[in-house]
Amino acid sequence: METYAEVLLPIPLERNFTYVLSESQVASAAIGARVAVPFGKSKLYTGLVLRLHKERPEAYTPKPVFRVLDDQPLVSPVQLRHWAWMAGYYMCTLGEVFRTAVPSGFLLESETRVLRVEGTDLQGEELNDLEYLVLEALEHQPALSVGEIGEIVDRKRVLPLLHGMWSRGLIRLQEKLQERYTPKTVRYIRLHAQYRSDQALETLLDSLGRAPKQSAILLQLFQLQEGAEKPVKSKVLQEKAGASRAVLKALIDKEILEEYLLEEDRIAVGEEGPSGPMPVLSPHQEAALQQVRQGFASGKPVLLYGVTASGKTEVYVRLIEEALQENRQVLYLVPEIAITQQLVHRLQRVFGRRVVVFHSRLNLMERSELWYHVQAGTEKAAVVLGARSALFLPFADLGLVLVDEEHENTFKQFDPAPRYHGRDAAIVLAGYHKARVLLGSATPSIESMHNVQKGKYALARMERRYGNVLLPDIQLVDLARQYRQKRMKGRFSEPLAEAISETLASRQQVILFQNRRGYAPIVECQSCGHAPQCPNCDVSLTFHRYRNELRCHYCGHHRALEQTCEACGNPTLDTKGFGTEQVEAELRELFPEAIVDRMDLDTTRGKYGYQKIIGAFEARETDILVGTQMLTKGLDFRHVGLVGIMNADTLLHFPHFRAHERCFQLLTQVSGRAGRTRERGKVLIQTYNPHHQILVQVSNGDYEGMYKEQLYEREQFRYPPAVRILKITFRHKEYNRVGEGAAWFAQALRQQFGTQVLGPEFPAVARIRNQYHMNVLLKIPPGQPLSPTKNSIKRIERSFNAISQYRSIRVVYNVDYI
Ligand code: ADP
Ligand code: ZN
Repeated sequence: METYAEVLLPIPLERNFTYVLSESQVASAAIGARVAVPFGKSKLYTGLVLRLHKERPEAYTPKPVFRVLDDQPLVSPVQLRHWAWMAGYYMCTLGEVFRTAVPSGFLLESETRVLRVEGTDLQGEELNDLEYLVLEALEHQPALSVGEIGEIVDRKRVLPLLHGMWSRGLIRLQEKLQERYTPKTVRYIRLHAQYRSDQALETLLDSLGRAPKQSAILLQLFQLQEGAEKPVKSKVLQEKAGASRAVLKALIDKEILEEYLLEEDRIAVGEEGPSGPMPVLSPHQEAALQQVRQGFASGKPVLLYGVTASGKTEVYVRLIEEALQENRQVLYLVPEIAITQQLVHRLQRVFGRRVVVFHSRLNLMERSELWYHVQAGTEKAAVVLGARSALFLPFADLGLVLVDEEHENTFKQFDPAPRYHGRDAAIVLAGYHKARVLLGSATPSIESMHNVQKGKYALARMERRYGNVLLPDIQLVDLARQYRQKRMKGRFSEPLAEAISETLASRQQVILFQNRRGYAPIVECQSCGHAPQCPNCDVSLTFHRYRNELRCHYCGHHRALEQTCEACGNPTLDTKGFGTEQVEAELRELFPEAIVDRMDLDTTRGKYGYQKIIGAFEARETDILVGTQMLTKGLDFRHVGLVGIMNADTLLHFPHFRAHERCFQLLTQVSGRAGRTRERGKVLIQTYNPHHQILVQVSNGDYEGMYKEQLYEREQFRYPPAVRILKITFRHKEYNRVGEGAAWFAQALRQQFGTQVLGPEFPAVARIRNQYHMNVLLKIPPGQPLSPTKNSIKRIERSFNAISQYRSIRVVYNVDYI
């Protein structure tokens, strides 16, 4: 009787496929192990065995498994359970979760190679620009991968292009199987087994008397082995003995020496040596730690709500230590891994090499290797620090999950599926491991505080800064008045300019926050009012003066700024609004002595972009740092006397139900960078709305007031946490079609859910990368069970796809849209 494997493929399929195993494969295949299986016409995929069984599928003839790739499961039952939860909850396929969860180094895949067709006559062929580029590239290279072609034509999706060219006989396609992860091995050398006895060795050395080079090598080897059979790398021996590879080779051929391979670790570790001392906690920290422990005892996740610079990190350190004492693993999630260098150093000072960072800069191989470390529960991966995707690592025994800055919206994956929330998914995972969960923030999300109020989470509080440093003095500056009284110098009000001078004079540093990068958001013609638009998206282009170009922040399109308006031809283009680049430029004029630096997406693209900027500021090489919201994410600088917010109004007026909450969080967090360790810091917020409730709450540090008011509004207008929001986005390149399709879908939803359905509506930017978007929101009240709701929606989607003119519209679900 044959054995079958139900196999999960890393592609968005609604169901799994069954393959047949040969007798020899049956012995090695296990649930959670990888298999290479054929799929479609000629493709091989890496799949995962979900189930082994004896039931022959009836609907199709099962294909054979091509190869079993693992003798140990790559993925554990706990992980599979977590993936299944994620696919169900966030309404995507299990294959999409698989694809995201597993480092791509493990996903051996047949790669499509594009080849030229020899001897084709291109005369008379009508080629468009892209086709011409592809053929030209193939003149120089016989074969290219699909990815390489994507780079050449500067497009993400090139398959339609290639398909067109293939069907016209312009190119050939070929499948090639690629294994991507290979352990790194290093050659070591030792004496051949036959000479391991003293007597044999003596005879050998005598016989080598006439070959001095060879005996020199042997003596060198004994020295390097330090008598104790210490492993010696071939390369090291060769160098030390000053011998050539040929001499070494001769000894190996004569079976005097033998070479063997050892796997080398790619994971760079932190500082060597023992762990450092634990910090001594202040009484406030000690009290909070007790509250956290009590919360853990109740089995609930704990929210640690501690003001900025209250010393949350040291409390985390204590809890990490406790988990390590129990020999359990720790997952430490942060919103943005690129700027955590400070934190990594702090943790490594205490935990030494037990801290490992799951970094976006790890390459395929390093990621795969870290996977094995975490799976084996080695000491090296006892504490994993990472952004949201670190939660997919195969933890053997997770004891503690920390989610720092839990309010940050970067924890939510936006694209592609699974569109999961890292905090929430980590809480579910922790449940499977019976691990403790701590969420930390100085400005908790309304959801989390609401969960405390409902008794779902426990609360721990820190109301004071470490060392009793006062929270910063926050003042609002009325921009309208400053302009009226002609007190503005460029974008700087008189109080802000003066405060900067004073701060610099007292040898303190300044941080300036402007939530827009570039020089000016909009370029506008003074004669005709025309503003240059992105050809692919419905937005105006942003002016970047440094490169003198216009850029689209949605798709990356860029071009040089023209001298004259493309609409009316007049040389009257002017800039409106301002970004970080302009703030930086004005600072250089106002404070020519000060050293100014800028931190935003444009200045941090390089590999160590962030570290250079942060490092220089820490070392006080920089006086003033201008930046976007990257500045808000938990940085701990010691000499910042002043934080200035250039303009708070864009944050206030952002059209989103969460705009006020985010504005409060952002401004409180940036303000929190001021005066962290000694003297009280100062914060100036420039705004046209100095009486706006949210800004008043920021300046009074009134989180409770903000929370109550926002919660009331969310309940009135039915937004989270009063309801759950499921956002359904429809995407298509034709404006009319997406409109009709979305309307049909919304109508079908309304029949079922009535007034809980909002839309369809075009979002603020309706066209991105040449695709029109339309949104429908479904508000799900607390009592309404989720899975039947989702099943109804899936049913509607199936009917939708049965209508031929709608089939090409992409339907995207975003559960718990934030
Ligand atoms: P938070 O994360 O709450 O904003 P941090 O953990 O960054 O605050 O602490 C703020 C500052 O106080 C840091 O510079 C930190 O080194 C210092 N600090 C906090 N707790 C202690 C402690 N127990 N001993 C010494 N320094 C501490
Ligand atoms: Zn664009």
